[in-house]
Amino acid sequence: TENILEVSHLKKTFHIKSPDGKKGLLRAVDDVSFTIKKGETFSLVGESGCGKSTLGRTLLGLYTPDQGSEILFNGEDITNFSKSKRKNFAKKAQLIFQDPSACLNPRRTIKQILLEPFKIHKIQNGEAKIKELMDMVGLASRFLDRFPHEMSGGQKQRVGIARALALNPELIVCDEPVSALDVSIQAQVINLLEDLQKQLNLTYLFISHDLSVVHHISDRVAVMYLGKIVELTTRDELYEKTQHPYTKSLLSSVPDISDEHREKIILTGDVPSPSNPPAGCRFHTRCPVAMDICKTKEPDFIQTGSKHFASCHLHIK
Ligand code: SF4
Ligand code: MG
Repeated sequence: TENILEVSHLKKTFHIKSPDGKKGLLRAVDDVSFTIKKGETFSLVGESGCGKSTLGRTLLGLYTPDQGSEILFNGEDITNFSKSKRKNFAKKAQLIFQDPSACLNPRRTIKQILLEPFKIHKIQNGEAKIKELMDMVGLASRFLDRFPHEMSGGQKQRVGIARALALNPELIVCDEPVSALDVSIQAQVINLLEDLQKQLNLTYLFISHDLSVVHHISDRVAVMYLGKIVELTTRDELYEKTQHPYTKSLLSSVPDISDEHREKIILTGDVPSPSNPPAGCRFHTRCPVAMDICKTKEPDFIQTGSKHFASCHLHIK
C-alpha cells in the first residue's frame, strides 16, 4: 500500500469535570477520516483547542480512541495490537514535541537521553548510533556530555529530533516543532526536518497553527475546527482555491502569503467550547456567510474536487 496511515471515523472523547463539578464529555476528535501517503508531509492546522494535538497523539497510540475508530498503520489496525506489535509500532512512529525543554530530562546528559530508547528496546550499539544521530541533526559530539539547560532552544530541539530518529521510524508526528523557537532559528529546524525526510524517506504529520510554515513544508493540508476536519486538499489548492469559509479566514490573516486579491476576513465571536459545539455547522456562529440551513443541518464532509474535500453547505450541490 502506498498509504502509511489510513484513518477512518476516528473519535476521541474525554470525560471532563467543569469547575462547578459537573461531569461532561469532550469529543476532542469527532469522526475524522483521512489517509497519509508514504513520504509525504501532511499538515493539520487550526486554532488551539481544535483537537489537532489530540488527533496526533491518538494516531501514535498514546490515547485510546473511541470504539468504532480505525487507524491502519501500513495496513494493520493499531487499535487492537498485541503487546509485541505495539512495541514494534512504538519504534516506527515517533513524536517531536513543541517545547524541547519540557521533554528532555534536566538531570540527564544528552548522551543519557539519546541512549534511553536503545535501552528501552534492548538494542545493542547505542553508543555508536548516537554519534551518528548527532551528526544527522548537525550537533557536534562534544554536546553529548552537556545537560539540556546548557544548550539553546534550537540545539535542544535538534536533540529531540535525534531522539525521535533513534529507532529508525517511518512516521513522525511533529507537534508545533518550531513554534517555541526564535523566528531566526525556525527556518534552520524546518530545513533540517526537510533534509532528514529526503534522506530517510520519512513521513511527517505536521501539526501547526502557523500557516506560513505549513505553506512552506506541506504536501497536503487538513484544516480542523472543533474536532472536525473541515477542509482537506493539496497545499497549492488549499492556498489558491480555498473553499471553506473557516480556511479563508485563517489564510486572510497571514500577511506574507495572502496576496492583495485575498479579502480580509476578521472572525467575530469566541471559539465555542468543544464540549458543547453548536448545532448544524459548527462554524455557523462565526461564519461570515452562514445561511439558515447552517444552523440546523451539519454539512457532510464531501469530495468537492479531484483532490479536494470540504464540509460546507456552499459546496454541496
Ligand atoms: Fe459557513 Fe454554512 Fe459553510 Fe458552515 S456550512 S462554513 S456556516 S456557509
Ligand atoms: Mg496543540
